[in-house]
Amino acid sequence: MKTDKKRIYLDAHATTSVDPFLIQKYAEHLEKIWGNPSSVHYEGRIAKALLLDAKRRIQTLLQVPKRYEIFFFSTATEALNTLLQGVVSYKKSKKKRESHSELARSLFLSTEVEHAAVYETICKMDDIEPLYAPIDIDGVLSKNRLFDLVESASVPIVAASIMAANNETGVVTSDLQDIADFLHTKSIPLIVDGVAFVGRGIDIPWSEGISAFVFSGHKLHIPKGVAVAIVDKRLRFQPLFFGGPQESTKRPGTENVPLDILVADGLELVMASHQKDREHLYELQSYFESRLEEICPSIVIHGKKAPHRLPSVSNVSFPGVSGEDLLIQLDLVGISASHGSACSSGSLEPSRVLMKMGLTYELCDSSIRFSWSRRTQKSEIDEALLRLKSLL
Ligand code: PLP
Repeated sequence: MKTDKKRIYLDAHATTSVDPFLIQKYAEHLEKIWGNPSSVHYEGRIAKALLLDAKRRIQTLLQVPKRYEIFFFSTATEALNTLLQGVVSYKKSKKKRESHSELARSLFLSTEVEHAAVYETICKMDDIEPLYAPIDIDGVLSKNRLFDLVESASVPIVAASIMAANNETGVVTSDLQDIADFLHTKSIPLIVDGVAFVGRGIDIPWSEGISAFVFSGHKLHIPKGVAVAIVDKRLRFQPLFFGGPQESTKRPGTENVPLDILVADGLELVMASHQKDREHLYELQSYFESRLEEICPSIVIHGKKAPHRLPSVSNVSFPGVSGEDLLIQLDLVGISASHGSACSSGSLEPSRVLMKMGLTYELCDSSIRFSWSRRTQKSEIDEALLRLKSLL
């Protein structure tokens, strides 16, 4: 779509542009580090050493405790599928080996506001029923209600998957550490989707109960095609694919060493300005929301009453306006945002996440997600507000 105006990208929760420094670094890595890390000769040894070094750098940058191991995947979707399906299939085969019987009907603890990478995976697994911890209208998960749900379950809970922060509303799971500790006492492994969370200025709340934590490069100005799973060495799971011994056999296939190293380079950039970026993101969020409330006093900002929300997103409903139409109008005036929804058969459905929070269809239908990153300028927010005002 063509417009004379400079485009303003406010969809950083969907993906981000690649940092120019990383484009240059990537070219260097592609030129110099092309060996196969499984080869025993010089080129292979160099690639292997740098791959291991990248894992160590990620471990240090994110203050990952020693009990975890780093795995690279192509996307967070692949990593989450491997972990979720892998834990279930490990438990199934263990049961078969030990008692020559099938794993009885089991529950998988989660929420209905997870990203499709988790939500759909749980729905599609054989012999697994989802057990959803309730989410309130502000997008908040109550740890006490989750505890009650687990205590009263009459069927075994095979594992749990809960996001660290919601990609659509930005609501942070403030009680993640307590929930993880509790699930640990029940021997329920917890897989955390940290895709929306990492790089937004908040430290990962490590706990004995977090069995795995996943994030994706492309939300952090790193190219697409790489994600990281930080996995407790005690977690047992089967791989999704079978093949060579790469990634401790959990993700067979020749490693993309240049891109894997680039994740460590990209995280270095993220962490170098973590505090500064956090303040910048909060400033953009409060400026955007307060100005938007002046322009259009009837707006509803989802998750605003939650105790803790990411500073990189505002999910806003414009009552009486079709979100789909507004999204198209925004695109025509050079603003990229999102309707926060899945695109099915060419039509934009209202967001499952907002619907499951208990909002009315009208509010869900009129919602737009605006999201930004450390590279977004305040002047871009100003210009976006001007253009948006002209459409309301
Ligand atoms: N989880 C969350 C919260 C996301 O926002 C996304 C992507 O938008 C994913 C998982 C999937 O990540 P990927 O695109 O790397 O598969």
